Amino acid sequence: MSRYWSAVVSGLTPYVPGEQPKLPGLVKLNTNENPYGPSPQVLAALRAAAADTLRLYPDPSASELKQTLAEYHGVSSAEVFVGNGSDEVLALVFMALLKHDAPLLFPDISYSFYPVYCKLYGIDYRTVPLDEQLRLRPEDYAGPCGAIIFPNPNAPTGIGLGLAGVESILQAHPEAVVVVDEAYVDFGGASAVALIAAYPNLLVVQTLSKSRSLAGLRVGFALGHPDLIEALERVKNSFNSYPLDRLSLAGAVASFRDETYFQQMRQAVIDSREQLALELASLGFEVLPSQANFIFARHPQHDAAQLAAGLRARSVIVRHFNAPRISQFLRISIGSPDECAALVRALRELM
Ligand code: PMP
Repeated sequence: MSRYWSAVVSGLTPYVPGEQPKLPGLVKLNTNENPYGPSPQVLAALRAAAADTLRLYPDPSASELKQTLAEYHGVSSAEVFVGNGSDEVLALVFMALLKHDAPLLFPDISYSFYPVYCKLYGIDYRTVPLDEQLRLRPEDYAGPCGAIIFPNPNAPTGIGLGLAGVESILQAHPEAVVVVDEAYVDFGGASAVALIAAYPNLLVVQTLSKSRSLAGLRVGFALGHPDLIEALERVKNSFNSYPLDRLSLAGAVASFRDETYFQQMRQAVIDSREQLALELASLGFEVLPSQANFIFARHPQHDAAQLAAGLRARSVIVRHFNAPRISQFLRISIGSPDECAALVRALRELM
């Protein structure tokens, strides 16, 4: 605390991202990164963009990327917003669309950045408990609210909600913005992009960090009715004209042009997840059904914090949240087959 800080800063409790240690030989299964590198076409586009043109500002409206995303998802450019990772997109969404007189609703167990944004912007919110199996029940969102946000598949549970469930929430609240955070949707979830034409209150947020192996490039986007997009553009243009640099724009466009690579890598992660789920179950873990690139699991006989510490001592890091209802779970990102095997070996030694 410094005497020079504003009252807002003094009152903040910032989000703490998963650690990024640089230890050789570490099996890093703690931040849901993709074990495979980005498409070779993306790397070629980045090399081509590392040129004399870097002296020029990038396109402030990211037109080519928006057009690429619009074609890919079957919407118009006016229905696309892009930002510096979906975290930045979400930060602008919270400010532009989620602050109202009635409280914002989100699940009690979900992305822990949401309450941080609420605090930053002074947004009143109420958490809605997941059911006993840690599933989101759409009917629990029926009451009055200012807006709704939830990840689908949810994080850190990995559990997906079907489109009928998403649609029932949209129908119950034609007057409120409903944001579906689809950071993990490409690993088997059902995307609500198909519902955008029918629901002007729907905003879908996605990222290139997970399924497109580009966490280091920082590109995220939102799709929704042009009115919602315009709100985001107004805030963005009051904050930073160029959130995406020339490299990010070039790499992101190239990623959407290499569909074959995307499909192969995404399927490889899904296959490893199914394999790892079976192995964890055979070790006695209770494994939640995941549609994401991570697994959320607990062991009836072994304390999660101790397991995480034991894994760390064996150079395997996973994420443990010391939070109500989930303190006995471990969130394990899906690694390469070798990394998953190292995790299972370390667990066998431990248990
Ligand atoms: N939403 C959810 C649910 C996430 O887990 C994450 C990753 N921490 C993000 C959004 C943000 O991802 P990024 O900023 O890398 O796009």
